[in-house]
Amino acid sequence: MFELLFLLLPLAVMYGWYVGARHERRGFERQESSRAQKIVSGVRFLLANKKLKATEVLADLLHVDSENFDANLALAEVYRARGDVEKAIGIHRHLLGSSLPRIKLELAGYELAKDYIAVGMYDDALKLLQEPRYDDELRIKSLKLMIKTCQKLGDWDPALEIIRRNGPDLTEKYTSSYRAQFICEKAKESMGAGRIPEGEVYLRQALHADPRCSRAAIMLSELLCSRGDLEEASGIIAMIPDSSPGMAMIALPILRRCFRLPAENERYMEVLKLWLEKADSASLILEIASVLEQYDQQEAEKYVLQAIRHKPNLRLFERLTVYQLRSARDPSARESLSMLLNLVSTEIAMHKTYVCASCGFASKIMFWNCPSCGEWNSIQPVRGLDGD
Ligand SMILES: [Zn+2]
Repeated sequence: MFELLFLLLPLAVMYGWYVGARHERRGFERQESSRAQKIVSGVRFLLANKKLKATEVLADLLHVDSENFDANLALAEVYRARGDVEKAIGIHRHLLGSSLPRIKLELAGYELAKDYIAVGMYDDALKLLQEPRYDDELRIKSLKLMIKTCQKLGDWDPALEIIRRNGPDLTEKYTSSYRAQFICEKAKESMGAGRIPEGEVYLRQALHADPRCSRAAIMLSELLCSRGDLEEASGIIAMIPDSSPGMAMIALPILRRCFRLPAENERYMEVLKLWLEKADSASLILEIASVLEQYDQQEAEKYVLQAIRHKPNLRLFERLTVYQLRSARDPSARESLSMLLNLVSTEIAMHKTYVCASCGFASKIMFWNCPSCGEWNSIQPVRGLDGD
């Protein structure tokens, strides 16, 4: 009922105008009669719950011109934000049918495309966004929305084609970073379907598109490790601490596979220490402790204790407690340490491992594309006391 009143509000205003105008401008009686008919049919559509048709008819009464164009756009945006996309579509379609300057018609078309995307009419949206736009800013916004829509549909080739054709107009984020991610998606699809060589070609293309793409480096190194090309794999993964130090934790399992352990422990340790100089990561400290532990647990314990002094971190504290529990002889000390370990481990398990730098979305699983804001490369391991 409230919604009906909300819709009737502009109608009441129009009717007031209609009554006033009737007295003042007798010469326009025929025109007014047509307006009255429109009001009646608008109400009929409303009562029949045909919201889209009602909005179109009522919007027609508003005499869209350059002066109230912005108000119409704002109203449509409110409708879309409220989830009443049908009404937003009605207003935008009406604007598109009005005699407005080209730049305003282009803007109305862009907004209508956003409505279509909101209700899943992707083909209609893409058709609208492909129309030529004379306003440069709007043209670039349309390109970005087209890429986002292709991304939503998993249409990587069309998205890459848009980037290829419009490279000079797009920022490096699109031409390098997004491009590499889209190629990685193609690699993932190929490898998922068992087309491993094709996947490898895509991964090399992705690294070529963005030499700092940690995802491509990790995926390619993993592939190379699987077939025993450890030298090349370790050469590729070596870029991580320089290009994306925050991703060391994610790259570590692949780095470990690049060495024949424990035979190559010494060389592995050298690389770990080199990585640690560039990437302040608790995972790297714990990995070094794990290697030390194979020779001398006391050395490992001493190393972790020293590391905690510089980097207070729950995971390091958990490992230290494990070492102390192993060497404790006194039953009551063992019981206390065991309780403490349980407490710290529970605390660690409660925290999220990854967070999106763009929207703050937190997760225990790593995503290359944020499921919340749709941004690429924005999710990183959590840092600090309860992170890496
Ligand atoms: Zn996000």
